[in-house]
Amino acid sequence: MKTILTGIRSNSVLTLGNYLGALLPMVRLANKHSADYNINIFVPDLHSIISDIDGDLRENIVRTIKYYLAAGLEANDNVHIYRQSYVPAHSELCWILNCIATMGETSRMIQYKEKSKGQESCNVGIFDYPILMAADILLYDATYVPIGEDQFQHIELTRNLAMRFNHKFGEIFTVPAKTADQIKFMGVSDGIRIRDLLNPEKKMSKSTKAENSKILLDDDPAKAAKKIMSATTDSLAKVKFDMFNQPGVSNLLQIRALVSGTPLQEVISEWVGETRYGTLKRAVADGVAQMLKEFQDRMANISDEQVYDLLEKGEKYANEVANAKLLEAQKAFHLR
Ligand code: ATP
Ligand code: MG
Repeated sequence: MKTILTGIRSNSVLTLGNYLGALLPMVRLANKHSADYNINIFVPDLHSIISDIDGDLRENIVRTIKYYLAAGLEANDNVHIYRQSYVPAHSELCWILNCIATMGETSRMIQYKEKSKGQESCNVGIFDYPILMAADILLYDATYVPIGEDQFQHIELTRNLAMRFNHKFGEIFTVPAKTADQIKFMGVSDGIRIRDLLNPEKKMSKSTKAENSKILLDDDPAKAAKKIMSATTDSLAKVKFDMFNQPGVSNLLQIRALVSGTPLQEVISEWVGETRYGTLKRAVADGVAQMLKEFQDRMANISDEQVYDLLEKGEKYANEVANAKLLEAQKAFHLR
């Protein structure tokens, strides 16, 4: 059985953009394939500590797992939920991979360049995390790793490390699918990018300081509605889906479609030509408020015990699989 592996960092509360663009599509993909794939959903807590954390990491982790469940993840026997740091093989394999990766290829990572830019004392974790990511993937022979475009380069690095290892020591690791095949598998031709509400030329990001730029999943629904009402639009006074010239209005249409589960084209035909932006905003605000209310009600009904039960099961499975793979890698180096 092939494996689909995914994770999302738990450094803070997620935004509506993270939910609509990453979490929800992932949950749909998992539900679609969980009869004939292993679905590994892990919380990359060791990746969290390379940067700042809002709040308490342990609480954030429990909340993230609840997000998946509240988004509709059907947890059956093929779905494995685990915390990275509870499976020590990740760190162990990372070290072994460090010793076959080169400074040249690791220094070329765009994420590293961006994240370390302007930081006088960038921590080594920021440099090394793509190798840890390779270990996260290779330990489970994962074929598909649905992630955002900013991580594609790391998939290529993982593929190269796996091929190098296999070439030297025999077929130990499954080489994950090429980026193009990952995209095909995810079924997204053009990734969804929810825009910043105040500066719609940019995407919505959880690290943006301005409160009214982003909607957080734990925002009070009425407060979230107000943020939509105060979103930046334009002075053309005619609704049209045109991300380039009318990004604010187009973003509202996009959000309206996603929160109501209506195809974007349908929402566009309903609103195109409307001259009162306030009417569109009201409809979007109501849709967002309703979605958030339902989501938050589902969150409230998931207990911590439920999460810990899933983790206990998932971590037992993950340790078995990962330790077996690690042993093969250790034998290759005559460590065992
Ligand atoms: P940060 O500001 O810390 O970079 P972020 O909001 O950009 O936070 P990430 O942690 O970088 O979030 O990404 C988590 C996931 O959410 C990724 O899969 C990413 O592609 C997706 N994502 C992030 N922002 C958006 C957005 N505005 N619309 C759709 N998907 C998004
Ligand atoms: Mg980001």
